[in-house]
Amino acid sequence: MANEDSIAFRLAQVRERIRRTAERAGRAPDSVSLLPVSKTFGEAAIREAVAAGAHRLGENKAQEIRSKFEPLADCNIDWVMIGHLQTNKAKDVARMASEIQSLDRLDLAIALDRRLQHEGRAIDALVQVKTSTEPTKYGLPPAELPGFLRQVAGDFPTLRIKGLMTLAINLPDKDAVRACFRTLRTLRDQMRELAIDGIEMERLSMGMSGDFEIAIEEGSTEVRIGTAIFGGRIYNDDYYWPETQRPGSAV
Ligand SMILES: *Cc1c(COP(=O)(O)O)cnc(C)c1O
Repeated sequence: MANEDSIAFRLAQVRERIRRTAERAGRAPDSVSLLPVSKTFGEAAIREAVAAGAHRLGENKAQEIRSKFEPLADCNIDWVMIGHLQTNKAKDVARMASEIQSLDRLDLAIALDRRLQHEGRAIDALVQVKTSTEPTKYGLPPAELPGFLRQVAGDFPTLRIKGLMTLAINLPDKDAVRACFRTLRTLRDQMRELAIDGIEMERLSMGMSGDFEIAIEEGSTEVRIGTAIFGGRIYNDDYYWPETQRPGSAV
């Protein structure tokens, strides 16, 4: 039996919470998948998660995927990029990630496409949309979404769009958080109605350790969970939202 501090135990606990929340919301339990987020955690913790059945892992920094890729090659992990990506790091993602959920602007699509062409690969992509009014959040403004999707579908066949991703507002106000998730779902439904050729609009990646139950109630198809599985990180919020970087911060 896994002891209560183990990653296997916490993974099972999170899976159970997802299942119960989906059921309570009248949704099929298997309509919500789990993306464990291993950022800042090392090889030992990740091997534990893999042994407990995790094979797709989220990371928010390209350099962290790069540093984990070789040492963990035997685990056959599908690395999912979920954090802000600078165009000069597109190469690492094009090489090593199976998916990016933080596609949020044209210059990034251009950089990724060029590198993916070079690698002879195509990857799944979710478009990260800004659903809160916080000035500090990455993500494509909702109004730009139709044009962006048409352009990616037309010009960048190496990026297979599967849906949308968001980070909710970083506040304890549950209604404000819920509103962000609702916005993303509404946008997904509207984009689906446009029926853009080459674009799939099924997936909604929303919800983290602190808010995933609300996200599931609002239609999330995929929750990204770090803390509740791997434990607390030594970094503060500027690690999630690096543009809020303060002088002297760790990033
Ligand atoms: C870190 C991170 C998560 C997971 O956050 P937790 O609160 O630790 O569950 C989810 N999404 C993104 C984009 C992240 O950077």
